Amino acid sequence: MIALSPRGLLLLLLLVGFLYAAPRFAAPAQEPIAAADPTVQSDKRIAFSFDDTPRGAGAFLEKDERHELLIEALETAGIEQAAFFINPGRITPSDHDAEIVMAYAKAGHVLANHTAHHSKLASTSVEKFLADVDEAAEWLEGKPNFRPWFRFPHLDEGSKDKAKRNAVRKALKQRGLMNGYVTIDASDWYMEDLALAASKSGKLIDWNALRDLFVESYVQSANFSDDLARRTLGRAPVQMILLHETDLAAMFVDDLAEALKKDGWIIVSADEAYRDPIAFMEPDVEFADGTRTQMLAAERKVSNRWYERNDQKVAKKLFAERVLHE
Ligand SMILES: [Zn+2]
Repeated sequence: MIALSPRGLLLLLLLVGFLYAAPRFAAPAQEPIAAADPTVQSDKRIAFSFDDTPRGAGAFLEKDERHELLIEALETAGIEQAAFFINPGRITPSDHDAEIVMAYAKAGHVLANHTAHHSKLASTSVEKFLADVDEAAEWLEGKPNFRPWFRFPHLDEGSKDKAKRNAVRKALKQRGLMNGYVTIDASDWYMEDLALAASKSGKLIDWNALRDLFVESYVQSANFSDDLARRTLGRAPVQMILLHETDLAAMFVDDLAEALKKDGWIIVSADEAYRDPIAFMEPDVEFADGTRTQMLAAERKVSNRWYERNDQKVAKKLFAERVLHE
């Protein structure tokens, strides 16, 4: 029983009296509330992909627990089919990496080629690059949920060397491999690097702020790419988000999915994303190291193409201010 002072009792009686009397007040005329039309769906669609699997240990999680956390987070988020771009050259007989890759496939996700050893096309020969592609293909052959998609390490399709780019484009086609492009990037790997460095030097990390920065950057980048695509193509293609198999992605991808849904995004499978007509386009520009949306925009001379937080100076400053409170 809560003891009430005489003043408290008076306030309580007044409140009860008000509540009792309230229905007798004339109700103001109400404006009809526009109900959301259930037949009108948002046209913002997005799929998820993770590169560099199996990735080395991150700053925070045990390697063996990271993939379990990531699989669980994807399930919680309602991401039924993400694409994992694999570097089989990192798998050794003495680790559990092959089992980790298989665990993603078993959970319904799809596996694709990211070269065996993560070669950068701009700094290697076409022959060596293709040998790296083939080594990965050999490992992936016959694996469950394999898709014939190839993602260029560093998104580098040969930088400014068009002859090299064309030679590799042709060779990939001969191998039946489609370019597994991305359209959204917010450099999760760089945020993870910054977190690693901070933790090594004994700095205090504000985890809530880090999660917020991660989520906010990816939602912003998604809307940036959506706007760029509409300005370039006059339509909204299915977006493909680039993440890596980082600790941060495992910890925050469910928060990111929730924020995207609140922002009107519909999550779709990687298969659906790569059925979009932009999957069959081959931008012809003076550079070949960016998202497909950036390259298509450049081809059509559409300006304002780069999401600012992919600039490491900008990202570093934000991380220091918001996560380290420096
Ligand atoms: Zn990579």
